[in-house]
Amino acid sequence: MPTTLTTSEILAALYAPDPEPLLERADTLRLKTKGNGIFLRGLIEVSSICARHCLYCGMRADNAAIRRYRMTPEEIVDAARLAQARHFGTVVIQAGESAANIPAPWMAEIIRTIKRETNQHITLSLSERTIADYTLWREAGADRYLLRFETSDPAMFRRIHPGATPNQHDRLNHLHLLKDLGYQVGSGFMVGLPGQSYQQLAQDLQTLAELRLDMIGLGPYIPHPATPLAQEPNLPEGEQVPADVDTTLRVLALARIMTPEANIPSTTALSTIDPVNGRKRGLQAGCNVFMPNLTPRCYRESYQIYPDKICVKVPEQDDLDHLLADFKAIGRFQQEG
Ligand code: SAH
Repeated sequence: MPTTLTTSEILAALYAPDPEPLLERADTLRLKTKGNGIFLRGLIEVSSICARHCLYCGMRADNAAIRRYRMTPEEIVDAARLAQARHFGTVVIQAGESAANIPAPWMAEIIRTIKRETNQHITLSLSERTIADYTLWREAGADRYLLRFETSDPAMFRRIHPGATPNQHDRLNHLHLLKDLGYQVGSGFMVGLPGQSYQQLAQDLQTLAELRLDMIGLGPYIPHPATPLAQEPNLPEGEQVPADVDTTLRVLALARIMTPEANIPSTTALSTIDPVNGRKRGLQAGCNVFMPNLTPRCYRESYQIYPDKICVKVPEQDDLDHLLADFKAIGRFQQEG
């Protein structure tokens, strides 16, 4: 059952001088609801081609400086085989947004092949599509869908997603549609977008809880120099939510407390801003999932939603041995499924 926290309770947790009691409460709750096992989801970034202009994302169509690629079906299925060999149990297929580049039947065939040949669960993170596409992919065997609402403030959503159709603006509605189609559904937002106030952040968390999600994706905003948002000023100090490790950990802990049963990953963005301890700290603040990157090395640099992604800068981080050693160091273990 979700736990309702009032805005003032959330604000008190965000402002408390010492975050430890909050993080410990989330960690204890995580142990109770999810145990000490950590689910691994192999992330496959299948294409950097994108038609959108999201103000925060380095992969936006306007950024001519990155290479645009689309993996072949064989490469995608091979990445899923890696996940199978390492007993992950699940792959996450993610891409930039272009229906022309990711035709629904093309993706459906890949989903069927992965299911048939590797028996992995399949999570899609392919942004807003038509009901027909969602239905086709569900029928092909996709199990879960990730679609972050990014911010619960409608004016901010519109501003940072210029040129989107009204249909695309309604990500909350898409999440309901996906649920109705039988997908397990995940969503979330970025912490510390320029202009994000503490009030707004409290609202983001409440929206998250109201959605009764199976999965949650939360990470710090990381400015990409080739995006308009990197140039934008923050709110005055004290009003602006910082995109730092401390705030992200508090938000992850609150997400755990408000949605005790959800699967919550310690995200790549958190590891990127704290390469040494980020993922462990997330896993000790309520998280129970980690998503190793299975994208072939030759493509990783081009899937540049933000710069210096940890899987590019410190690729060995994703090696299973390193991962399992990190888990062991904090008394945790890989859980298949
Ligand atoms: N195009 C897909 C996948 C996008 S990448 C979609 O929009 O659903 C997955 C997530 O990365 C996004 O939902 C967003 O929350 C996050 N992201 C994008 N740019 C970012 C940045 N500059 N800093 C931190 N996270 C970012």
